[in-house]
Amino acid sequence: MIFSVTILGSGSAVPTPSRFPTAQFVSCNNRNILIDCGEGTQFQMRKYGVKIQSLQVILISHLHGDHFFGLVGLISTMHLLGRNSGLRIVGPKGLEEIIRSQLEIGHRKLDFEIEFKLLEKGEISSVYDDKLIEIHTFPLNHKVPTHGYLIKEKPTELNLKKQKVLDFQIPLAVIHQLKAGKDVLDEQGRYWKFKEFTLPPKKLLSYAYCSDTKFDERIIEHITGSTVLYHEATFIEKDKLRAKKTFHSTANDAATIALKSNVQKLIMGHISARYSNELEHLKEARNVFENSIFAKDGMMIEIGK
Ligand SMILES: [Zn+2]
Repeated sequence: MIFSVTILGSGSAVPTPSRFPTAQFVSCNNRNILIDCGEGTQFQMRKYGVKIQSLQVILISHLHGDHFFGLVGLISTMHLLGRNSGLRIVGPKGLEEIIRSQLEIGHRKLDFEIEFKLLEKGEISSVYDDKLIEIHTFPLNHKVPTHGYLIKEKPTELNLKKQKVLDFQIPLAVIHQLKAGKDVLDEQGRYWKFKEFTLPPKKLLSYAYCSDTKFDERIIEHITGSTVLYHEATFIEKDKLRAKKTFHSTANDAATIALKSNVQKLIMGHISARYSNELEHLKEARNVFENSIFAKDGMMIEIGK
């Protein structure tokens, strides 16, 4: 099973030749998720080999243009390419109206259904749940209602110690219970302990996404222990007044949240176009949290590796 993030856009509101506005593709246990969809996201998907029709869920963090202006174009392309399977879009209240009216004004009638899940300001809830993954939302602290997301693997069946199962000739009905992590007393009165016949469970991985937001420690409780954290770092400390005023974070802020959340790795992004490179961001963040990297368009990060 693969769990990876591909950065499609690592810049902020003003695009630069090397950085598109925010978008990320997450592949988690065969589920394909797009997080945010800045202008040009569909071109980036093509460029970096992400199949447009493979998307099942789109998560939008907030209604600033650099996070959703690419959405109607992407949806339109899905239609032109013959999509007939449904699409789920999660985002702030108001998003459905924007997308439906753009499609209507553009005379685009879709051959597939879009199911919107619209979030209230400050909402904490589960927005997607199936056999293999779950996605939760939590509030960030930005100028407009903004939603963070946490994508988590779900526990799967335990793997058997095959030789042991053969040696003991365990009945099939018992095997099912052991794989589900349950001890079993069978009809003959034999007691089977699942830990004796199964391998230790795989560590469950998770990816937390926080963009855009000012420094806010209330985020920590929602992302504690995540394997990888993406946290915006629009500015560096010398511009921290500007960060405060615009409800954005510095690299130091992002690293502090990573440290206090006890995550394994921090990815920063959403760099302001005022900086010619991310070196200062990296220096600042690594002073606080060593395992910090800065996103680049086209970069792929495997979660847990
Ligand atoms: Zn914003």
